[in-house]
Amino acid sequence: MAKVKPFHGVDRNVYHDNDKCVDGNNIEKENLRQGTGGKPKCQRCKGL
Ligand SMILES: [Zn+2]
Repeated sequence: MAKVKPFHGVDRNVYHDNDKCVDGNNIEKENLRQGTGGKPKCQRCKGL
């Protein structure tokens, strides 16, 4: 597992910080943004 800078999808309500997160990797490129977006951390990233 690898921690990365926080990123989020504009159409999601959580942010991710792990490059192994399936949900994070599923975000479409056009919806991908850097930072937390003021959203809570993804449950899957918390567990990774
Ligand atoms: Zn995640």
